[in-house]
Amino acid sequence: MLEIKDLHAEIPDVNGGKQILNGLSLTVNAGEVHAIMGPNGAGKSTLAYVLGGRPGYEVTGGSVKFAGEDLLEMDPHERAAAGLFLGFQYPVEIPGVSNVQFLREALNAQRQAREEEPLTGGEFLKHAKEQAALLKLDMDMLKRQVNVGFSGGEKKRAEMVQMGILDPKLAVLDETDSGLDIDALKTVGNGINAIMRKPDKGVLLITHYQRLLDYVKPDFVHILSQGRIVKTGEADLAQRLEAEGYDAVMAEVA
Ligand code: ADP
Ligand code: MG
Ligand code: MG
Repeated sequence: MLEIKDLHAEIPDVNGGKQILNGLSLTVNAGEVHAIMGPNGAGKSTLAYVLGGRPGYEVTGGSVKFAGEDLLEMDPHERAAAGLFLGFQYPVEIPGVSNVQFLREALNAQRQAREEEPLTGGEFLKHAKEQAALLKLDMDMLKRQVNVGFSGGEKKRAEMVQMGILDPKLAVLDETDSGLDIDALKTVGNGINAIMRKPDKGVLLITHYQRLLDYVKPDFVHILSQGRIVKTGEADLAQRLEAEGYDAVMAEVA
């Protein structure tokens, strides 16, 4: 599903080019959940941005294949239409646009790019209601402007409703657990499982903490440090990181 090979990326605007990803390789097969953990500044969010095609990040080496296609050659909207979903550490507010408008436009644009029929208003609302119920988000919230005045937890749940509505092949979720209380964490974890834990889907879960992984059990856990994967293990690696800290576990790698 996703094959990242020796990826190098930099931010050209910073001091004549600041190298952030330094030879990152990672493969996610259909049906797998991969967690990426790592200290602050390791390049986790940069990886998510580069996969999404965010302007300002330049790939200087390596390759990324998504469902057999060259992801790096695709525009951001083509990546989304091909089934890539990005969940952001800091979801943006879009004043003046309701969630319902935004998501219906987004879904139908993606369907059109895939040469599928658009959903009618009624079909869309039925679909949206099901996904909102899954994340215990009131439909009234979806009628409000995107993320405007939402609490941290509401933004994250709304983002998972977006994911459910768009029904991607691969979700890259950047610190979806940040700012969630214990109940919301469980709701979001269960939502991710319900939407994405399927044989034809994959998840890249970027997180600082083990706690989300209690709900969304990863098949693999990777440690990202200084722009590359330095260690890969199974779910118990996340527990060790939580118990012993990054420094202790990474000392072994060094
Ligand atoms: P993480 O998500 O693992 O905490 P980031 O990918 O956000 O790490 O950042 C990796 C490194 O790149 C950090 O040193 C950060 O300061 C730097 N960085 C990221 N984005 C920018 C930017 N837009 N301008 C300057 N430096 C940046
Ligand atoms: Mg960070
Ligand atoms: Mg980050």
